[in-house]
Amino acid sequence: MVERRISALLASLAVLLVCAVLWDAFGGVRVRRPAPRAPSADDTAAAAHRPGPLSETTAVQAARLPAPAPPGASVAPSNLSYAELLARSEMRRRIRASAGLTYLNEVVAATGDSMLHRWDDRLHRPVRVYLATGTAANFQPAFLGAVRDAFQRWQEAGVPVRWDLAADSAAAEVRFKWKVQFEEERTGQTDLTWDQDGHLQTAIVTLATFDPKGHPLGPDEVRVIALHEIGHLIGLDHSSDTTDIMYPVTKVRDLSLRDIQTAVLLYDLAPGSIR
Ligand SMILES: [Zn+2]
Repeated sequence: MVERRISALLASLAVLLVCAVLWDAFGGVRVRRPAPRAPSADDTAAAAHRPGPLSETTAVQAARLPAPAPPGASVAPSNLSYAELLARSEMRRRIRASAGLTYLNEVVAATGDSMLHRWDDRLHRPVRVYLATGTAANFQPAFLGAVRDAFQRWQEAGVPVRWDLAADSAAAEVRFKWKVQFEEERTGQTDLTWDQDGHLQTAIVTLATFDPKGHPLGPDEVRVIALHEIGHLIGLDHSSDTTDIMYPVTKVRDLSLRDIQTAVLLYDLAPGSIR
């Protein structure tokens, strides 16, 4: 009887050992789908435009590009289909291959959730934008034309999103606001929300009428600020290259080839997680 109990105990231990080994073997390659996230204040904060030199954290994150999955990784327990895993692997490959020509790797690194955020299928159903006259001091009607020009520029660059700039306030998905000055060193801010699949849903774009030093801004400057903020609006984050419009503290007056190629690649890839 005692002997039988010992045998049973040994058998149990053996089973436990096998389980532990298997758990370990699969542990390193498990793929997880990120938990669904509703648009929240956190999203808004994360997407807000923060000017200033790119932090070291951002640079370090940018270097941590998704590594290719090791051979055989796809046998890991996962709630993703094999086709989905392959598609994501291909997206990571294309983003890596575009390094230098685009800064989409930096955009992904800045998200913190390895997701591509963008408007989806909005060529036939233009995004409704409420672009109204401001009441802030130094607001000029020409600022509205400057913002329209900036939208036009991104459209001409080939970003496949259309904008209805005549939407009324009630129906708008994107709202432009004007304020005299930001408390921090910035002249614009874009707050975005998106759904769990990375589809952008709403945005508030706030533009200043005075720069941080108190100088009144003119239409030309507003156009450049709007080019940068619309970059955020379409789903881009900052570039570390001073020649791009998406450099945190804009140094140029027009989109660079890299700005355009980054946006075009973003819209060539499916929104959502790439991990
Ligand atoms: Zn910015």
